[in-house]
Amino acid sequence: LVKVKHLHKEFGKNVVLKDISLSVERGEVVVIIGPSGCGKSTFLRCLNGLESIEGGVVVIDGLPVEPDKKDIYKIRQKIGMVFQSYELFPHKTVLENIILSPVKVQKRNKDDAMREALVLLDKVGLADKKDYYPRQLSGGQKQRVAIVRALIMHPEVLLFDEVTAALDPEMVHEVLQTMLDLARTGSTMVIVTHEMAFAKAVADRIVFFDQGEIVEETRNVKAFFDEPSTERARKFLKTFA
Ligand code: ATP
Ligand code: MG
Repeated sequence: LVKVKHLHKEFGKNVVLKDISLSVERGEVVVIIGPSGCGKSTFLRCLNGLESIEGGVVVIDGLPVEPDKKDIYKIRQKIGMVFQSYELFPHKTVLENIILSPVKVQKRNKDDAMREALVLLDKVGLADKKDYYPRQLSGGQKQRVAIVRALIMHPEVLLFDEVTAALDPEMVHEVLQTMLDLARTGSTMVIVTHEMAFAKAVADRIVFFDQGEIVEETRNVKAFFDEPSTERARKFLKTFA
């Protein structure tokens, strides 16, 4: 579903991604971990064409991602992205935030979008908050609304960039639980996180980045956390012990 080959990305003289090749199968959950500044967010941004790339190719569901091309919107429709900051519209209610894109971008019928929004809100335990404004919600609730807003577009793949990093500890769990539920229903997900226990629980595959390179990549998730094969991964994991 996602194919990245020899991706090279630099900001000026700063080479941020070096020769990254990675494929994600339909239904797979890939978790990317690595030290701060190693290029994880930049990598996710390259997947949906938010960054230009200097080399290699990114292909989503058979379509090459080229940020400057007119049909980049077709590719973005296949991708749902959730960030650390929820980026909800403050003057719109929860329900309005969620149905905005399906109605405006996908030209869906409003009643139909509302019905689905309520079903999804119910799944994340927020049906009773549909008429609230973002400022009336906790961080964890806002983040779950942001996830619903991505889901209602029916993306082929979901990208999560440290979605719990800005949350108070007691709210982290409810958001991670929502993501675990999604993973179990077969969603294709690429997740960047610093929550190692969650990574271990949710990942079909672990990809360890360091300094813009994939240092380790394995489907043997348990073995990676018990005993990574590289010294760099070992050092990184120690910082969480
Ligand atoms: P963190 O775990 O702290 O979120 P990260 O792995 O997501 O880190 P990136 O945000 O991808 O790291 O940044 C990788 C490198 O790219 C850093 O050296 C950063 O300074 C650089 N960088 C990121 N965005 C830009 C930009 N828009 N312009 C210039 N340099 C950038
Ligand atoms: Mg980042």
